[in-house]
Amino acid sequence: MGRRLSGRLVLATHNNGKLAEFQALMSPFGVDVVSVGQLGLPVPEETGTTFVENARIKALAALEATGLPALADDSGLCIEALRGAPGVYTADWAGPARSWDVAMQKAQDELLAVGAAAPAQRRGTFVSVLTLVWPDGHSETFEGRAEGTLVWPTRGAHGHGYDPMFQPDGSDQTFAEMPEAEKNKISHRARSFQQLAAACLK
Ligand code: IMP
Repeated sequence: MGRRLSGRLVLATHNNGKLAEFQALMSPFGVDVVSVGQLGLPVPEETGTTFVENARIKALAALEATGLPALADDSGLCIEALRGAPGVYTADWAGPARSWDVAMQKAQDELLAVGAAAPAQRRGTFVSVLTLVWPDGHSETFEGRAEGTLVWPTRGAHGHGYDPMFQPDGSDQTFAEMPEAEKNKISHRARSFQQLAAACLK
């Protein structure tokens, strides 16, 4: 049986952009989102090897610290010709300086190193996993995907992360060339959230 979220929810993030995004998505349903960052709580180390494991680690820690229903998201880019890399290590490819130019250059270099130059060989999937854990330990996981082609030179100035090199199927623009509202209709995160909303925000 489905459960319906209401009242307060804790989001397992220290990222204020992510917090604002989820507050906007949830407020029409009467759900009040606070983050572990706002509460001064740490985010645990992401020691899992899958998005699902990492989302679960973060959500459980937030539940244990607050007793509130807790939501965590974990996301990344999986490149087919690189056997799913960078995957859970997507943020790490940006290096210590957290440079997305460095990360996108690495993706291009690694693709060229395996001879993947033609568009059909440059397939990538953005994945977003949302895990919701309830105070009684029940948990639910939702996964959204956006499939597309990795392009270079990179194009566009909107968005974040790898957006300038990701052209979703069905569009001739990269995520970074699209107005944010347009990306937010078709992104991996939009798709995982739609599933969560259908299951828990009726
Ligand atoms: P996390 O889920 O906050 O750990 O993010 C994982 C990584 O995936 C981040 O470093 C982002 O740069 C990348 N990523 C996740 N979603 C997107 C997106 O919509 N566009 C570009 N990069 C993304």
